Amino acid sequence: MKPDETMLNTENNKHHINGLLEKRVNGNHNKNRFSTQNGSVIAEMEDLGDNHVGTSLDTPMRKDAFDMNDDLKVELIEKHFEQIMNILGLDLNDDSLSGTPHRVAKMYVKEIFSGLNPANKPRVALFDNKYQYNQMLVEKDITLYSFCEHHFVPIIGRAHVAYISNGKVVGLSKINRIVQYYAKRPQVQERLTKQIAEEMKRVLQTEDVAVLIDAEHLCVAARGVEDVNSSTITAEYCGKFEDKATRKEYLSHIRS
Ligand SMILES: [Zn+2]
Repeated sequence: MKPDETMLNTENNKHHINGLLEKRVNGNHNKNRFSTQNGSVIAEMEDLGDNHVGTSLDTPMRKDAFDMNDDLKVELIEKHFEQIMNILGLDLNDDSLSGTPHRVAKMYVKEIFSGLNPANKPRVALFDNKYQYNQMLVEKDITLYSFCEHHFVPIIGRAHVAYISNGKVVGLSKINRIVQYYAKRPQVQERLTKQIAEEMKRVLQTEDVAVLIDAEHLCVAARGVEDVNSSTITAEYCGKFEDKATRKEYLSHIRS
């Protein structure tokens, strides 16, 4: 999709959406992935979502992801979300609902999915490790709000991030910001864990990094199997944290 003035034109939008719907009903959509005539493909797609299977370390993004500016994105999403609400049968003339499409669009672009845009990546300054503290540093219980990329509902949890200094240190709040940056995307928890670990390694110029995330997925708690008691733990241990004793020390800090 190109940033195109005509997309703001509701008539054109309608044609565009009608075209898409026709293609789907006729089973002509690219790769047939959404074909209503192909039940097994749909079942496979639903399985992939329910099993929360991710496909890559990098968040899958299109090359033209940032050709549009944020304000145009908000404007377009607002129009599309209005359509979703209309199709659901909601009355957008109601005072309580009339502002919802704009609120949702703004929240998507500027808040909960702002971590898709590399321009929002936290800039992290390194400092010399003046105290010569060369033990592990654990930043634990970092509050984490992310969104399941299969259902677009919240993942709520805590991240515990650790590193062993290689001569350089970062301000503690920067670790929280790195977690938040990668959390503010449609995610799978395994990828989120790895992305945080990779960024910590890159920033701190060390392999000695560990990340553990313990999170609840609302798509598991509030729909599907409706299990409100389960949580999901993912962990990435790199460098010295692959060593059993170091890992044990890290885990004991988290649990203390
Ligand atoms: Zn999900």
